[in-house]
Amino acid sequence: MIIYETPDTTELDALTVVAHPDDAEIGMGGTIALLVDRGYRVGILDLTRGEMASRGTPEQRLEESRTASKTLGIAVRLNMGLPDGFLQPEATARLELVRVLRSYRPLFIFTHHLRDPHPDHTAAYQLVRQAAHNAGLGKLDEGLPPFRPKYLFTFGMPHRWQPSFLVDVSQYWEQKIAAVRCFHSQVSPLRPGEPETYLGDPGFLDSLDAQSRSYGSLVGVTHAEYFHTEIMLLVADPIEAFKPKRGRFL
Ligand SMILES: [Zn+2]
Repeated sequence: MIIYETPDTTELDALTVVAHPDDAEIGMGGTIALLVDRGYRVGILDLTRGEMASRGTPEQRLEESRTASKTLGIAVRLNMGLPDGFLQPEATARLELVRVLRSYRPLFIFTHHLRDPHPDHTAAYQLVRQAAHNAGLGKLDEGLPPFRPKYLFTFGMPHRWQPSFLVDVSQYWEQKIAAVRCFHSQVSPLRPGEPETYLGDPGFLDSLDAQSRSYGSLVGVTHAEYFHTEIMLLVADPIEAFKPKRGRFL
């Protein structure tokens, strides 16, 4: 299902595939804003409509996704409508993702880290990993030419793993939080009688801020988002790539 699409949407440079509407904004909204600002065409694919969430309805989440997409300036937002809470990397879902990858042809894919504690997030990683491979199989005929993304980067819950690289999102932090706040149904303060949720906790946005500032402090910037990858990263110019913003590193 296409939630949001700019009129000139054709191919994408990067696609973020996540389990729930709001995961992309929370996990890497700053990096998405940065990439869009640099002229790259970025998309978000939500695998489920978040219908199992304690607060909000799937319809609200779809509307919130549309507003958040505009806030970040992305080119396309899709929702696959897979079962929230029961996400599985099964064949039908994999083929549907193959068709998305072959249609939008993003060289860069972002998704949840494999060791994320939420089972839907783990399933999303497996689904992405498998579909990215399948999309490149010449003999798999889905009516679209084969295409295989080149890079898979993952995010979320960094205390469970060591980031491979950090992105300076200081300039885009407010835009990220504005996008996260579009999901009123999830992050608005709990009303009396509502069930307690992780995102509805009054300290949630503070903890997001603290985590990003903490990583930023390691590389001399105000806010950083953190990513993991299994592949070797090649840089053309190590001094340009790693020159510190401020602070000490030894
Ligand atoms: Zn999620």
